[in-house]
Amino acid sequence: MSQCQEILQSQSEDSPPRLSIEDALVLYQEANLTELMHVASIHRRLRVPGNHVTYLVDRNVNYTNVCTINCQFCSFYRPPGHPETYLQTVDQISERITQLEEIGGSRILMQGGVHPDLVLEWYTDLIRELRIRHPSIDLDCFSPIEIEGISDICGLSTNQVLEELRAAGMHGLPGGGAEMLVDEVRLDISPKKGSAENWLQVMREAQELGLTTSATNVIGFGETNLHRLEHMGKVRELQDEALSRGSVGFTSFISWPVMLENNSLGRRESGTNKYTLGAGSNEYLRHVAISRLFFDNIKHIQASWPTMGTKIAQMALFAGADDIGSTMMEENVVSSSGTTKTSASERELQLIVSRAGFVPVKRDSDYNLLDTETIDEENFSPPPIQPN
Ligand code: SF4
Repeated sequence: MSQCQEILQSQSEDSPPRLSIEDALVLYQEANLTELMHVASIHRRLRVPGNHVTYLVDRNVNYTNVCTINCQFCSFYRPPGHPETYLQTVDQISERITQLEEIGGSRILMQGGVHPDLVLEWYTDLIRELRIRHPSIDLDCFSPIEIEGISDICGLSTNQVLEELRAAGMHGLPGGGAEMLVDEVRLDISPKKGSAENWLQVMREAQELGLTTSATNVIGFGETNLHRLEHMGKVRELQDEALSRGSVGFTSFISWPVMLENNSLGRRESGTNKYTLGAGSNEYLRHVAISRLFFDNIKHIQASWPTMGTKIAQMALFAGADDIGSTMMEENVVSSSGTTKTSASERELQLIVSRAGFVPVKRDSDYNLLDTETIDEENFSPPPIQPN
């Protein structure tokens, strides 16, 4: 039996051993995709028993596109002073949240750029006002690089900034900005973004404060499979720390391939690196399956319909994912670089899930299951899937 087969067999046991980076690398490079997805499905059922797949009714809010970080893969940002910059007012943001409330949503994911002129009070006043106007909506706001930016401007530590934001009513942090937590790759594509350790440190602090956090991973920068596993290794290590403190840590892990339109990374792709950047369906599904096997300490793995399309997102549900993501209502950051679909209705998410043979269940930001009004699609009822 090959080493790859032995690893797959041991990962199929009732209590599989923790997958090492070395063994994950063997699977990454040698495993048959169908077999890999099968074993990832076994892990999914060990971690998340049953036949349901969750989704979230939420809204993205991109409050500003002003940013000084200039990531090479970002088509969303505009440098300060650019004629296309914008900054939304509290009323404009509140109006968006009202639209979310009208469709039964439960959280906003608010991210922008690193704005050089906004002081801490701008953020805390905004959160406080939104908390008053929309008490039932969870406010997951500002990725670690934005927290670092606020910290630089106000002269407080990132931990103090997080404390102020939490006191104002912030519920959690988006997992954005992790991209690839390996400095060799990270500093090549985003030299001004700060090290992997910075991202991990802000997340560590957020978790210590009890804020809800998730972890992301963007692939396709020309990194090696080992780089991808090193990224996962750092996230898993931080999650071990969080769990040992009795914290929830990361609720989920979400990965997607980098989009290459309208950005300088894409222009690199069309030059000497043609076809070496980005990632196709096979690679994405392999990555999802490996992440399910690798993360024995993160419960939820999310499929990405905005970047991969709904069909591949459905396939990801057979590669270990147990969550189909969220309605988003609008998406301006990743979509600027080439995705075609930036919003899905609750009905669409339910159909994506049920047509793949699973039962859709609505959740909140913390993965608490909510009452789900099941949409009857001409009496469609998905066939039951037997546990492995
Ligand atoms: S990805 Fe974020 S930090 Fe990077 S340039 Fe775009 S908005 Fe700025």
